[in-house]
Amino acid sequence: MYKIAIIGGGAAGAGAAWRLHQSFGQDAQITVFERAEHVGGRTWDLTLDGCHMEVGGVLLHSTGQITKALMEFTGSQEAVPSLSIDGKDETYAFWTDRGFPVLTKVSLASMAFGILKYVGAPSALKVTRRAIKMAAQYEGVYTNLRDHAPFTTPDELFDALGLLAPTKISAAEYFKQLKVNDRMARDVVEAITHNMYNQGLEMNALACLVGLAGAGLAGGHLFVIEGGNWTLFDKMLRKAKIDLRVNTKVVQVSLERSAGTALPYTCQLQAEGGLSEQFDAVVLAAPPALADLTVTVDGRPFPLRTHPYQEVQTTLVVGELNPAYFGRRPGQRMPSTVFTAASAPAPFKSIGTTGWSPEFNSRIYKIFSADHVMTEAELHAIFATIHDVHTHPWRGAYPVLTPALEHLPFELHPGLYFANALETIAGSIEVEAVSGTNAANLCAHYLQAHSAA
Ligand SMILES: Cc1cc2nc3c(=O)[nH]c(=O)nc-3n(C[C@H](O)[C@H](O)[C@H](O)COP(=O)(O)OP(=O)(O)OC[C@H]3O[C@@H](n4cnc5c(N)ncnc54)[C@H](O)[C@@H]3O)c2cc1C
Repeated sequence: MYKIAIIGGGAAGAGAAWRLHQSFGQDAQITVFERAEHVGGRTWDLTLDGCHMEVGGVLLHSTGQITKALMEFTGSQEAVPSLSIDGKDETYAFWTDRGFPVLTKVSLASMAFGILKYVGAPSALKVTRRAIKMAAQYEGVYTNLRDHAPFTTPDELFDALGLLAPTKISAAEYFKQLKVNDRMARDVVEAITHNMYNQGLEMNALACLVGLAGAGLAGGHLFVIEGGNWTLFDKMLRKAKIDLRVNTKVVQVSLERSAGTALPYTCQLQAEGGLSEQFDAVVLAAPPALADLTVTVDGRPFPLRTHPYQEVQTTLVVGELNPAYFGRRPGQRMPSTVFTAASAPAPFKSIGTTGWSPEFNSRIYKIFSADHVMTEAELHAIFATIHDVHTHPWRGAYPVLTPALEHLPFELHPGLYFANALETIAGSIEVEAVSGTNAANLCAHYLQAHSAA
């Protein structure tokens, strides 16, 4: 029986565990080490003033096949994201230095009309068509994961999908070459990417455009998991009888060349508190920049390149917006979501309704601010009424998605696999599960190849 360790119980670790469980069934003992007291990682929820909401990864898209498979396996149900309080009367605004040049109802038709009117058809259509095309190409990843030998690097995977070129160019440059006007690029697209990734057009074009498609531009629908997104992973790991060790932080992975055994390396894991255990293979399912662990090979330090991650503050405010802050007249209706362009005079990246508090009979807004903690003075300027405030900092929300990044491979060393490799190109709950699946495929190949030899 193989002994496989997975370090990290987020989407990537769950994706890896699911695939290894499918590959080996009872022929492998799979252990997930999770340093927090629960799995989920960057998907987490809380209840604030009577309202249950997600504070990390929220929206799932109906095209996500791993999410769907896990939902079927666990019997999890879709729930409607609590973004809409007033149903059809809900509104979206794009906020720039010109105020709200686009203010629409939330329906796709209404948004499309508002955006078209502001930016003109040529730019709007160019971006929409590219996003739809890239999303369709990206869908090929599921066939590739099934039929293709596992990919060793993110570049190889995106090359197989015909999507390598847009990972190597910034969205700003891509739109310039496409002659997309600034209104579309800066006031609309960048305002949306601020909401999704807390980053702007300096990110690679693939993350930008596939992200737009994933936000609903290319059709499909968005949902959350009933009871909390993180429960999807928790239920799967428990139902698959994966050995789950929460509150267990791995501090060191030591690979030692082994003589006289089928596998070329043994993997020794050490966790805080003195635990030390040997495995046949290890899948690292956490970004090295955030995992705080060391790796050695034959006693020598094995350097793991770390990518920069942005720190994001999630500030939840139960209250009502102050129209004057947004340049609106007193009493003027405020949009439920304000997509915030870089030119808007705001200390945050996005602000939008995330729920309704029955306790205060009030909306709850979520503010994302990258590398900035919202001050009391700022909150009192933005809101006319504040009933409650709750903050949830993410030490690393997303990697900085600039195109110049050199991505880590899925195989860090024979015996050590990396489930987060894709996220330095584009990250989401589903993409991380895909990434974990490919790392698990490589791990399974390694184990099977050496056992058969
Ligand atoms: C605020 C925010 C909003 C987002 N919105 C969306 C969205 O709407 N839709 C979407 O699809 N995505 C969204 N995302 C992105 C999505 O949540 C992430 O891409 C995804 O959840 C990352 O999963 P992961 O498994 O790769 O990493 P993580 O979720 O970070 O999991 C890594 C796990 O490893 C554990 N760990 C780390 N080091 C160790 C160690 N040494 N030992 C043991 N355990 C360790 C961590 O505790 C963590 O649980 C959002 C992210 C954030 C932060």
